[in-house]
Amino acid sequence: MVAPHLRQTLHDALLASRRLVIFTGAGLSTESGVPDFRTPGSPWMANRPIPFEAFVASAEARREAWRRKFIMDDSFAGAQPSPVHRLLADFVREGRAIGLITQNIDGLHQEAGTPADRLVELHGNGTYATCLDCGLRHELATIRPVFETTGRAPRCEDCDGVVKSATISFGQRMPEAAMRQADQWAREADLFLVIGSSLVVHPAAQLPLVAKANGAALVIVNREATPLDSAADLVVRGEIGAAFAGLAVAQATGMDSMPVRL
Ligand code: NAD
Ligand code: ZN
Repeated sequence: MVAPHLRQTLHDALLASRRLVIFTGAGLSTESGVPDFRTPGSPWMANRPIPFEAFVASAEARREAWRRKFIMDDSFAGAQPSPVHRLLADFVREGRAIGLITQNIDGLHQEAGTPADRLVELHGNGTYATCLDCGLRHELATIRPVFETTGRAPRCEDCDGVVKSATISFGQRMPEAAMRQADQWAREADLFLVIGSSLVVHPAAQLPLVAKANGAALVIVNREATPLDSAADLVVRGEIGAAFAGLAVAQATGMDSMPVRL
């Protein structure tokens, strides 16, 4: 349940924004059937995450990481973008949003049609793998049958380096170009919209404050409280699908000169 007046304020602010920046977390994909990280009972929490250092150092850790990854992938195979993923893609395509920054690794923003040059994946993408030494992309469809037959973690086809899912693990360095682009968008935003993030994973959770310090209004849409709620101009507490229901980018026509007011 989302209070109707809050939903209306949210929609008005989004349609009035000229330099919207969208920031999404795992909560956005739960309505697509992908479990988030921190909601109690999450399968991501069933095992202690394997830190980057351990993955690089130990063949056994790599085997375990790949084993778990394929089990998780199966649990949400076939997940489709939600209506909100599609709405956000429209905001970007229409130039209403200057960028979409996601912590998600599920590829659903791409599938919803978000243009690649306006999308930053802060924590990488779990739908393919890369060689940690030479950067060559490897497809899961090729890796998986070999792993399942031999029980050995994949090595690079080109350089024999260690191959890892193209996500950022605990202890792994953040992708520099992605962070730089996200920081720049945060500085340019007139409205910074957070959707479905607990805002406890750093440095990603710094970005709303960067935007705020540079003059943006901050809006947070999430089912539960976050540490940045007190810094927000608007907090919409409730289900994401309900918060955006009834909103369409087409409604924005003719509202170009309206300032964002919250
Ligand atoms: P999180 O799990 O820490 O927080 C998700 C938040 O969304 C929670 O506060 C939860 O209450 C809320 N939420 C869940 N479903 C909701 C709904 N339908 N409506 C409203 N609120 C809802 O997620 P995070 O902040 O993104 O941090 C998790 C980290 O784990 C990220 O770095 C991400 O890379 C990774 N992760 C990604 C995925 C994915 O790609 N879908 C899934 C799990 C974890
Ligand atoms: Zn390689």
